[in-house]
Amino acid sequence: MSVDQPAFSNIQEHQRLLAALRESEILRELAELLTSSLDLDHILQVLVKRTTEVCQIERCTVWLLDDARDILRPATYHLTPQQLNNHIIMAADHIWYHSSLPFADPVVQRLFNGNGMLYLEDLTTEPSLQSIGETFLVRSILLFALVREYRPVGMLTLDKPGKIRTFSTEQIQLARAIGQQAAMAIDNARLLHDARQAANLATERANTLDAIFHAMTEGISVIDLEGHILMRNNAAASFLGKDRFIKDQIKEVLNLHPTYTIQGQLITEDEFPVTRALRGERIRGERFVTTRADGNERILEINIAPLFDASEKQTGIVSAFRDVTEQIRIEQRIRQALDTLLHVAEAVSGITEIKEILQSVLERALVTLNCERGVVQLYDEEQDCFTPLFSIGFSLETEKQWFSDQRTWLYTLSDHNHGFQEQLLAGHATLINADQCSHQPNPFEYLMILAAPILHNNRLHGIISLDRSVYPRYDQMLQPAEQRKVPQNEFTLWDIAVTEGIAQMAGLAVEQALWQQEAINARANEAAMREANALKDEFLAITAHEFRTPLTVILAQSQLVTRILRRISDQALEAGITKLPQVIDNLSVIEDQTHQLTNIVSTFLEVSRLNRGELTLNFEEVDLSILAQQVVLRYSTISKEHSIGFIIESNERPYIVIGDRARLQQIISNLIENAIKYSPPGGPVKICLGREAIHEGRATIEVCVEDNGIGVPKDAQARLFERFYRAPNIEQSNTRGIGLGLYIVAQLLKLQNGSIRVESSGIPGEGSRFIFTLPALEKV
Ligand code: ADP
Repeated sequence: MSVDQPAFSNIQEHQRLLAALRESEILRELAELLTSSLDLDHILQVLVKRTTEVCQIERCTVWLLDDARDILRPATYHLTPQQLNNHIIMAADHIWYHSSLPFADPVVQRLFNGNGMLYLEDLTTEPSLQSIGETFLVRSILLFALVREYRPVGMLTLDKPGKIRTFSTEQIQLARAIGQQAAMAIDNARLLHDARQAANLATERANTLDAIFHAMTEGISVIDLEGHILMRNNAAASFLGKDRFIKDQIKEVLNLHPTYTIQGQLITEDEFPVTRALRGERIRGERFVTTRADGNERILEINIAPLFDASEKQTGIVSAFRDVTEQIRIEQRIRQALDTLLHVAEAVSGITEIKEILQSVLERALVTLNCERGVVQLYDEEQDCFTPLFSIGFSLETEKQWFSDQRTWLYTLSDHNHGFQEQLLAGHATLINADQCSHQPNPFEYLMILAAPILHNNRLHGIISLDRSVYPRYDQMLQPAEQRKVPQNEFTLWDIAVTEGIAQMAGLAVEQALWQQEAINARANEAAMREANALKDEFLAITAHEFRTPLTVILAQSQLVTRILRRISDQALEAGITKLPQVIDNLSVIEDQTHQLTNIVSTFLEVSRLNRGELTLNFEEVDLSILAQQVVLRYSTISKEHSIGFIIESNERPYIVIGDRARLQQIISNLIENAIKYSPPGGPVKICLGREAIHEGRATIEVCVEDNGIGVPKDAQARLFERFYRAPNIEQSNTRGIGLGLYIVAQLLKLQNGSIRVESSGIPGEGSRFIFTLPALEKV
């Protein structure tokens, strides 16, 4: 036994030694396997497979940490062959690959914050892992943290699907050692993968930049500090007619392609922008002229930027040039067009004669467009036709011929030419050439007319036509056939646009001239009217004055005769004179009419005094409520047919104004008289007094005279307070009047700082409200 004892312990020792050797052999072999590859998938597959084998476990899984999202993702797993026919696992395979575990999960945290190993005997008790456990059939599980230099890389798990399982110390040690190896291998593979991706990206970027470099329409050259051209893109190469790989010196390029300033002076090598940039000068948007390889002269614009290496040391320059020939040509033409428009504007400003304006415009247009003949026609809106105004560049006979030949396309009713009409009316210049006028019996060798509408604010004033046609007939008249010119250039889009602009300008000038004309006419009319009014006033004053004395005499005489006749009427009757009462009646008619005439004359006199400013008012404090009541009372007794009501809004505050008592009485009386006059018998008349608080604390007193009469039509209301104006509403009413009452009322109110307005629907029977206002004496 004593012999056996050591022998037994020797055997155990021996076995442990063998196991350790095997373990280290396994690990060495695994380490070799893992490090022999940098392919992550391969590493993972080897890892799980070998772990199941050497740890003698049924299943091994690996999860990898997705850094960006802080999540552990299932990467791969391996089952022992006995487990492979486990259908539930096979079915859950897809779900497992799509389930992830937050790094912040308490179980994961326990694993990574502890000693890197965690044994969970029963996963059904772990709430966060329960569902993964159920789908993937996990009960007992042994977890290892995969960590490389304190950085978590992932997680390794061992379990027996669906079973409670314990793990031996050897198994744990072995798995931990494998985990350490695996973490290193996985991390290396990942780093390599990232590096490869970065390299691929860099290559792709370089290729993209290269493609952009060569696709650019700008010519680009990279030049070193000695002036050698190191690189040029396709655009630069084709401009210079060189292969893009040929490296040459700036000097050589300049010899082959001498450069000039825009003004035509030769640029020396020393002054050339590239040379100056090499000396450290900043070059931005400089322009010069040079020739392309094909001999074409072009204007280039050049920009140069310094080039630095990784250590910020300048290694050269990048020069980019752009062909701006077309742009400059366009700029010049725009400038020329603007100049023309400006000249047109200048030329026509101050001219009021329309023909003169258009003549000046046409002359300008012909010069700008390098054209010899032009025509202006005016448009008559009412007749819807065009009439020739004048032409330039034609002889008398050819002009006549032109107008008759060109009539067809201008006629609105001509079916064929609606296109022109519409274009012109829409404000567009239009081209008339042989193609468009093919239906016409063509007397022209070459027809080319550019017509532009003289239009402003949708009002067509006429047409400007520029003519580059060749007319054998006309030209024969003008010059010998051999000298006849055939136009070289047709009208370009540019010409069309410029002509359109010029014609628009002409439209504006014509419109302004018309306004000016209208303003002059209006001023002349106004002066004439003012003069006529002054004459009328004078006539009024004289007549009224001259009428007053005879009227007073007539009145006095007829009153005297009436009195005498009345006295002798009884004796006359006795004497058989029966006609006397009739004579007395006639006399009273004369008296009545003379009274009315006297009233009219005094109204005339009053108006003429008002107009001359000769009316003086006696200002005093007047209580309008008392005054209005007195007037109402008077008219209530005189005018029995009308009920005249009086309403006062509130008695609390006085209705005192500063004014002329007699004139205020006259105003109210006049309005009440009109209300009675322009409403049917029995129609009620109402006078209302009210106070209105207005701005700055000043109150206004409002007096409103209201009736239910014929009303005032809306369009007549604005003229109601003019002299001699009687609205059309009186036509049926058979009332007498001269249209001066309201004028006087308005003028008298104005003299007392008041105003008057009328409100009426204009519907007969709905009546009108005449409201006058005066400032109250007392503040609110
Ligand atoms: P006249 O009464 O002598 O015509 P007015 O100057 O007093 O002159 O009035 C001018 C015109 O205003 C009147 O002709 C009439 O058309 C209209 N008008 C004045 N007052 C009223 C009223 N109360 N209702 C309807 N129309 C009126």
